[in-house]
Amino acid sequence: MVNALFVTIPKATWADMGTRAGTMAVINLIPLLCGPRLSMVTKLLGISLRTSLASHSWIGRTAIALAAFHIVIITKDGDRFSRTWGSVFGVVAGSALGLIFILSIRPVIRRAYEWFLNSHLLLAAIALLAIWRHLPTKTAAAKFLNIGICQWAIISAVHWSLFARRNFVFGRPFATAVVTPLSSAKPVLDMPASEAYPTLLQVDITVPRPWRVRAGQHVFLSIPGLGLFTGLRGHPFVIAWWDRDRSGLTISILVSSKNGFTRELSRNANKTFRAFIDGPFGIPHDFGAYGTVIMIATGIGIAGHMPYLKDLVSGYNSCEVRTRRILLIWQIQNEGQEDAVRPWMVKPWMDKILTQDTGMVSLHVTESGKEDEELGTHSKIKVTSTSPDIEGLLRKEIGGRRGDIIVSLCADNAIADRARTQVQTHMDKGVRLVELDFQPPSFETAAKDTRGMEFSCRG
Ligand SMILES: Cc1cc2nc3c(=O)[nH]c(=O)nc-3n(C[C@H](O)[C@H](O)[C@H](O)COP(=O)(O)OP(=O)(O)OC[C@H]3O[C@@H](n4cnc5c(N)ncnc54)[C@H](O)[C@@H]3O)c2cc1C
Repeated sequence: MVNALFVTIPKATWADMGTRAGTMAVINLIPLLCGPRLSMVTKLLGISLRTSLASHSWIGRTAIALAAFHIVIITKDGDRFSRTWGSVFGVVAGSALGLIFILSIRPVIRRAYEWFLNSHLLLAAIALLAIWRHLPTKTAAAKFLNIGICQWAIISAVHWSLFARRNFVFGRPFATAVVTPLSSAKPVLDMPASEAYPTLLQVDITVPRPWRVRAGQHVFLSIPGLGLFTGLRGHPFVIAWWDRDRSGLTISILVSSKNGFTRELSRNANKTFRAFIDGPFGIPHDFGAYGTVIMIATGIGIAGHMPYLKDLVSGYNSCEVRTRRILLIWQIQNEGQEDAVRPWMVKPWMDKILTQDTGMVSLHVTESGKEDEELGTHSKIKVTSTSPDIEGLLRKEIGGRRGDIIVSLCADNAIADRARTQVQTHMDKGVRLVELDFQPPSFETAAKDTRGMEFSCRG
């Protein structure tokens, strides 16, 4: 809207509006030029990664639409489109922006994320260079472009300096990543059994320069030993657990295997690698300020909630949080996935959380047709085979709440949509909804295959 006003007011000829649209397109490029990772600027601005990604794509689309308007006006006005290098670079810039638009559609991103990311960066660099050559030096647009390029250079320099500081410490070894399988090796599709690999992994990374880890942080992990192209690009993972002792800081991540970096990681389970980490990024949420905390996770989304759960239970024991009721609903897909999660569930992580209570925390299980099954050494987690009744549960919890309530989502689209709709229906001052930066992928199989796992702590 603002862009349209700037292009059309004060009243001008089509040719002038075309020029203004070009200038506005360049101005819109400025917020897009925020260095090699969106996460850094996102953290500085104190906004969520989702908001940042959504703004990035909307501002990008606006810039492309304005550039398209500029191109249409110029080509209509045959005299202005001359056979000069300036025009050639204009065509190159326009084509690069057009390709960015086409390659940013959802099916491409979903199917070939890595390919999308590389092409996006390359095309953005080509577009910038071409616009720079296309613009006459003394125009307003050229000045705005210079501002954008300087901003990009400064943010990139800060980013790589922080990366170097995090990974290179004089007299200390590089970070090491120990990959441990948490599920048994399973063949995928028609793969021979000999090539089967585990689908759930725990990666423990000992970092050379420790920091104060907080719930909600994620890091980008690169492992060059997995291959130059696969291993070098950083992949984001939530810090699910961390241990700090005299020898330093070890952060642990839970990895669900996909087709690229994570598959290579699974193929190399039980090995130790040299690693590089970028971060930490992410905005922590203050769950301890709420009387009731409801956490909803699907599959590997549990990794996003683990650190908050840990903080809340220890904060409860030391009387540092207001939270008196925590309800965690975790949906997993099927027997196969449950098998993958089970060894992790009985690991000391969950045990540590659940044995920290002072006797005031009790766990309850929703009724199910199936006999309850106990899980873990603490006998506090029980499994039910019914899928969670998100609507009923939220209605009940929000309706009968004491104090403020926060609902946190680290769940696939289907569950997140249901929870969001339900919370919005009951939205008021004391109700808050947060969606964590990581959204796990949707389960592919039908809902009837799902089994629910639900456990809550009450104080
Ligand atoms: C903030 C955040 C935290 C995350 N935390 C976890 C976690 O704790 N555990 C976990 O298993 N997964 C987590 N993920 C998802 C994880 O980053 C991807 O599954 C992983 O990068 C896939 O790598 P791949 O090369 O094997 O994927 P591919 O098979 O190439 O792609 C599979 C899907 O993974 C996603 N993806 C691939 N590369 C990237 C990338 N560089 N950045 C972001 N997404 C990518 C895309 O959606 C893609 O469709 C998190 C993602 C984000 C954004």
